[in-house]
Amino acid sequence: MKIERIQTGKVRIKENQISRTKGIIPPMAKVLFSKKWADWVPIYAWVIEHEEGIIVVDTGETHKTSVKGYLPKWHPYYALAVDFDVKPEDEIGPQLLKMGIDPKKDVDKVVLTHLHTDHAGGLHHFPNSEILIDRNEYKTASGLKGMCAGYLPHRWPKWLQPTLMDVPESPYSSFDRSLPITKDGKVMIVATPGHVANHISVIAEMDGVYYFLAGDTSYTQENLLNKVPDGIGTNESIQTLENLLAFSRENPTIYLPSHDPLIPERMKNKEVIRQQESTCQIRKH
Ligand SMILES: [Zn+2]
Repeated sequence: MKIERIQTGKVRIKENQISRTKGIIPPMAKVLFSKKWADWVPIYAWVIEHEEGIIVVDTGETHKTSVKGYLPKWHPYYALAVDFDVKPEDEIGPQLLKMGIDPKKDVDKVVLTHLHTDHAGGLHHFPNSEILIDRNEYKTASGLKGMCAGYLPHRWPKWLQPTLMDVPESPYSSFDRSLPITKDGKVMIVATPGHVANHISVIAEMDGVYYFLAGDTSYTQENLLNKVPDGIGTNESIQTLENLLAFSRENPTIYLPSHDPLIPERMKNKEVIRQQESTCQIRKH
């Protein structure tokens, strides 16, 4: 097995979307009206070259986000709270071709951690792959309701007929719900609700090390370690961060969320999550 990272351009959001702040102002209002932009961060997608086939996790963003009229500027989030910098050659399709992988022929499965545009924007490159999406996330993101929630369902490829997953109650280490997507059980989906209610992550085990493809479970490893949820997530965020930390105490884990600028270094050094010993750790056996 081999795990590779593809950067599909950059995105810029507000600081208080990256890290939740306290106060009585509703979180989305804070994000929309804040003047404090965070630095540009990468948009990562992942390729797992598994013996049973190639699995892509998230598809990154499309350069069309810079084409006038593509993003719904009537939506306050797109008008006020996000900027993209994606060039045509940054898209996942051309980058896979450069790696010798034809996205139209060679990719067995595509898993989406959730359907926000910076994860689903490259879907059009995979017309012949099985696309795996959580059933409830697909429901939430579809139609007018989905558009109002900030998804771009009208930009999904017309051919999209995903395999809708119900991640079952089936414990995997510290996670209550999980689903293997390879026969050898080395690539697992786990439920990581928080950023959105039906967010999932993919864990790939290679040589005893667990590569945790976390989507937007948190934007950075620092926020995971400090249990700081993102600014717009649900109440389940902190529980998910705790589950993830518990997982990393049981299993050597390299944390790979979609927008952490420190990931190249972390991958190069095979740096696993290390937590300070706490006297009140509850260990699951
Ligand atoms: Zn994202």
